[in-house]
Amino acid sequence: MVNLNAKIPDGPLAKKWASYKSSQRLVNPANKRKIDIIVVGTGLAGSSASATLGELGFNVKTFCFQDSPRRAHSIAAQGGINAAKNYQNDGDSIERLFYDTIKGGDFRSREANVYRLAEVSNNIIDQCVAQGVPFAREYGGSLTNRSFGGAQVSRTFYARGQTGQQLLLGAYGAMMRQVELGKVKLYPRHEMLDIVVVDGKARGIICRNLVSGKIEKFAAHAVVIASGGYGNVFYLSTNAAGSNGSAIWQAYKKGAFFANPSFVQIHPTCIPVHGDHQSKLTLMSESLRNDGRIWVPAKKEDAEAIRNGRLSALDIPESDRDYYLERRYPAFGNLVPRDVASRAAKERCDAGYGVGTGHAVYLDFTEAIRRLGKEAIKEKYGNLFQMYEKIVDDDPYEHPMMIYPAIHYAMGGLWVDYELMTTLPGLYAIGEANFSDHGANRLGASALMQGLADGYFILPYTIQNYLAGELQVKLSTELPEFQEAVNGINNHIERLLNIKGDETVSRFHRRFGIKLWDTVGMSRNKEDLQIIIEEFKTIKEEFWSKIRVPGTSGELNPELEKAGRVADYIELGDLMARDSLQREESCGVHFREEYQTSEHEALRNDEEFMYVAAWEYAGEHKNPVLHKEMLKYENIKIESRNYKK
Ligand SMILES: Cc1cc2nc3c(=O)[nH]c(=O)nc-3n(C[C@H](O)[C@H](O)[C@H](O)COP(=O)(O)OP(=O)(O)OC[C@H]3O[C@@H](n4cnc5c(N)ncnc54)[C@H](O)[C@@H]3O)c2cc1C
Repeated sequence: MVNLNAKIPDGPLAKKWASYKSSQRLVNPANKRKIDIIVVGTGLAGSSASATLGELGFNVKTFCFQDSPRRAHSIAAQGGINAAKNYQNDGDSIERLFYDTIKGGDFRSREANVYRLAEVSNNIIDQCVAQGVPFAREYGGSLTNRSFGGAQVSRTFYARGQTGQQLLLGAYGAMMRQVELGKVKLYPRHEMLDIVVVDGKARGIICRNLVSGKIEKFAAHAVVIASGGYGNVFYLSTNAAGSNGSAIWQAYKKGAFFANPSFVQIHPTCIPVHGDHQSKLTLMSESLRNDGRIWVPAKKEDAEAIRNGRLSALDIPESDRDYYLERRYPAFGNLVPRDVASRAAKERCDAGYGVGTGHAVYLDFTEAIRRLGKEAIKEKYGNLFQMYEKIVDDDPYEHPMMIYPAIHYAMGGLWVDYELMTTLPGLYAIGEANFSDHGANRLGASALMQGLADGYFILPYTIQNYLAGELQVKLSTELPEFQEAVNGINNHIERLLNIKGDETVSRFHRRFGIKLWDTVGMSRNKEDLQIIIEEFKTIKEEFWSKIRVPGTSGELNPELEKAGRVADYIELGDLMARDSLQREESCGVHFREEYQTSEHEALRNDEEFMYVAAWEYAGEHKNPVLHKEMLKYENIKIESRNYKK
């Protein structure tokens, strides 16, 4: 078994990052000008990294598949970004943010990384304010905060329900400044299709120009993957429709280990699925749980009458409502973490208390409107309410919203060490594409924090420790390794175009996604996992014989793009199921039905499973190999997660 070295610096936890920075190798300014870095992705992670690396003096080539870097999925982020500023004076601190994040992740993340994240969280807010990000403010001008799940303090900075958009505009602006200065070159409408490895190190990428269909080669001293998460593996998710797992899958196949693939987050507050022709789910931000109260009818007959249209939510008196989160978790109430809230909603619906289609619960603002007034609620959440009304055609100021859990985020991703380098030397992963900081469950508003921490404050330092040893390397896209990668891509594309079956890629994806959701979704068990792992062989054969990709490779061809991504999803789904099967415990989002307490809470097995599962690609038709990074908690007391008191 490979010894996974996370390269955690020695010394006390609070000093590790400072001591790393003071002793790492750096690249001097004259040499920075000679170094090329590729960044794949222009979300918060990729844009912030590109801007900072350009500012430092490196030559950066930045890629995205959208027509504008500003259309990266990050723009959809609604609720906010965490930081331990303690502006509210409510007891927050770096230590508390660190503790909440480790606990929220159910003790399956690395102490040193999480502490560093909490430490740099405050710098992010300063950086963004300096860029002009319009965070919400108090009347007197100071930045205001709201609460998110899994915390008893208010540490979430926000810009209405458009925080991701405003932060991305800040990072984009900083990146475009470097574009103007010639330090960053942008390649929109380019999809990376392979990573080129020369002498065991990442030395470039191959892209398809999505407009012309041309296959293009790019070389660099290091490659940074910032390609986002793979929640769309399930077909229906809250992610942008274009988000996909292919870049990290290509990295995995080229030697980067894949960590905790089955840790995928289910968000409790999404607009419920309403029909068979839906291709996307919409998130209702977690921030709504600050003021909204979640309930179902306490009586089954009332729930049934609502489902049949004989009663509405407004007909149910207060005494016949079950505010089940407040009942079960008095200390955190509606602000329990996402995994806990999602399972509780599923439990009530499975027991027959669901409303709407039966797979929905209420999120009710009546009390908040009474307490604060409609205008105050509008001020805080107006755009979210408007979005709900447009989609559902119901006025959430008058009737409670209906919500249900849905796939939202991937905690799993490329394994990275403390320097954010994968197991393939010279290949880095940042943002949602890596597995780093959230363990088995991410707390709300912590993804934006992590993406910007990685891009603005961590990678630009750590990558130099590697690059300082690469100054003599001569880059060339004429090396045989580049041509080999191009040939492989051309063959793959030809194979997809020649299937000529009769099922559309989306239809196939939908069928496969539903199966994955039923087995590796909110609840998992050994028997079903074993069955689906057996079935994957057939699913793959079916894909490669049944789908139809119209058009050609030498043109704009979105169906071809989708086909490549779904081919990867099938293999990724198989890895997720294997990961889920080997983890014989419940932790965070990973709920194995066999391992639960008498109160249906997740039952961890720290003795046997306190590790990061890092999977190594072993080749086509071979089983992947599991490696374990054992987790050590030296600064935090390990305990069962308890949100009741
Ligand atoms: C609806 C919604 C709301 C959210 N709200 C919040 C919130 O309030 N707070 C919070 O902390 N988190 C939130 N999240 C999570 C957060 O938005 C994401 O985790 C985060 O934005 C991911 O950023 P990223 O930079 O890693 O990736 P993305 O923003 O997903 O960017 C990925 C980039 O990679 C590029 N790319 C991908 N593959 C390729 C390829 N093969 N070739 C070339 N380019 C490629 C894309 O073009 C894109 O530019 C939310 C998520 C959703 C779905």
